Amino acid sequence: MLGSSPLAAAPVEPTAAKVAEIKAKLLQMPNLPFKFPEAPPVDVESKLKAQFGRELTLEETTVARAMATHPFFMELTPDQEAKRQELRAKASKSINEIGQARREKALALFAEPPAAALSDKEYRSFPVTSVLDVSPNTKLIKFKLPTPNTPLGLPVASCLTTRAVIDGKDEVRPYTPISTEDTLGEFDLLIKSYPDGKMSKHITSLKVGDSLDFKGPFPKFPYEANSKKAIGMVAGGTGITPMLQVIKKVLANPRDKTELRLIFANETEADILLKAELDGLAQLYPNFKVYYTLTNPPAGWTGFTGYVNKTTLASVLPPPSDEHIILVCGPDGMLSAVSGPKTKDRKQGELGGLLKDMGFTAEQVYKF
Ligand SMILES: Cc1cc2nc3c(=O)[nH]c(=O)nc-3n(C[C@H](O)[C@H](O)[C@H](O)COP(=O)(O)OP(=O)(O)OC[C@H]3O[C@@H](n4cnc5c(N)ncnc54)[C@H](O)[C@@H]3O)c2cc1C
Repeated sequence: MLGSSPLAAAPVEPTAAKVAEIKAKLLQMPNLPFKFPEAPPVDVESKLKAQFGRELTLEETTVARAMATHPFFMELTPDQEAKRQELRAKASKSINEIGQARREKALALFAEPPAAALSDKEYRSFPVTSVLDVSPNTKLIKFKLPTPNTPLGLPVASCLTTRAVIDGKDEVRPYTPISTEDTLGEFDLLIKSYPDGKMSKHITSLKVGDSLDFKGPFPKFPYEANSKKAIGMVAGGTGITPMLQVIKKVLANPRDKTELRLIFANETEADILLKAELDGLAQLYPNFKVYYTLTNPPAGWTGFTGYVNKTTLASVLPPPSDEHIILVCGPDGMLSAVSGPKTKDRKQGELGGLLKDMGFTAEQVYKF
C-alpha cells in the first residue's frame, strides 16, 4: 500500500532529468534522511533499475538510496504519516532552538566587550564596595564598575587620577590601581593616608556606597609578555602599586616566562603592604621572588635591613643587560638614591644613583 505517497498517485518516470530534479528536491529537504523505522522503505533502487532497464550509475544509486530512506517515498499508513508530521514538527522546533542558542553563543563570542569604564576625557564616578585595612595607615578600597563584564580600561602599567572637592577646592591626585586590565566589574586602589594629606585622607575615609571621580588611563610602562628575560623591581611603601600590576599581569599568563625579582623597602614589618599576598605568590610561582628590607626591623628579622644599597640590589636584581629591566617606584628620596630623580615635569630624566654605579644604562631602568 502506497498511502498518500506521490509514488502511488503518479508513478515516477525516473529519467535522468527526473532523478536530478528529485535529488535537488531531496537536498532541499531538512533533516535528511528522516528515519521512520516502523515503515518499510520502498525499494526505490530496484524500481528505478527496472524502469531504466539497466544497472544504475553511481549517482543514480546514491539518489535512489536517499529516496528509499526518505519518508516521502515510504509506504506510510495515515497514522504513521500523522506521527511523522508530529515528529518532524518537534525535530524542526528543537533544531530551531539549538540553532538559535548556537547563534546567540556565536554572537556573544564575536560581540564587542563592554566599553571600558574609564575615560581620559572626562571624570566618571564609581562607588566603593569594600574597604580593608592592610596596615595601620593604608587601606585597600574596592570600586564597582557599571556591569560585571566591564573592564576598567587600564593597560599595565598605567595610573589614573582621582578628583574630589576638599575644603571647597577641586583636588586631583594620581593613583595606581593594583588590579590588572583583565579584571572585570571592579578595581582596587591601595591608598596610604597621610595625616595632612588632602586626597589620601579623603579616599581612606570613604565608606561602602560612597563614590569617587576617576579619569584615565595615563599609561606609564607598557608591559609586553616575554619582552624581557628578567624584571627587577625596587619598591618603597605605596611604590608597590605599579609593581603589583606588572607582577599580576606576568603571573596570570602561563606563557609568560619572565623572571621577577622584587625588593620591597619599608620602615617596620607592619608597614609591609600585602606581605601575605606577595609571599603567597612567591610560593606559587617559581619565577617570582620577593625580598624585604626594613629600616626598623623587629628582633629576629631575617630579611635585609636599612635602606636599599648596592649590596642588597646586587644580590636581588638581575645584572645589567638589555634583556633585563629594573623598575623603581617609591618616595622621592628613595628614587633619587636608587636611580636618580625624575625631572620636574615627571619625565625619566638621567639615570643616576646606585643603579648607574652598578653599570645599568638609562634604557635598562624605568622610574615610575
Ligand atoms: C604616578 C603616581 C601614582 C601614585 N599611586 C599611588 C597609589 O597607588 N597609592 C598611594 O597611596 N599613593 C599613590 N601616589 C601618591 C598620591 O598621588 C598622593 O601624592 C598621596 O596620596 C598624597 O596625596 P595627599 O593629597 O593626601 O597629600 P597632599 O595634600 O598632596 O600633601 C599634604 C602633606 O601630606 C604629606 N605627604 C604627601 N605625600 C607624601 C609622601 N609621598 N611622603 C611623605 N609625606 C607625604 C606631606 O606632609 C604633605 O605636605 C601616586 C603618585 C604618583 C605620582
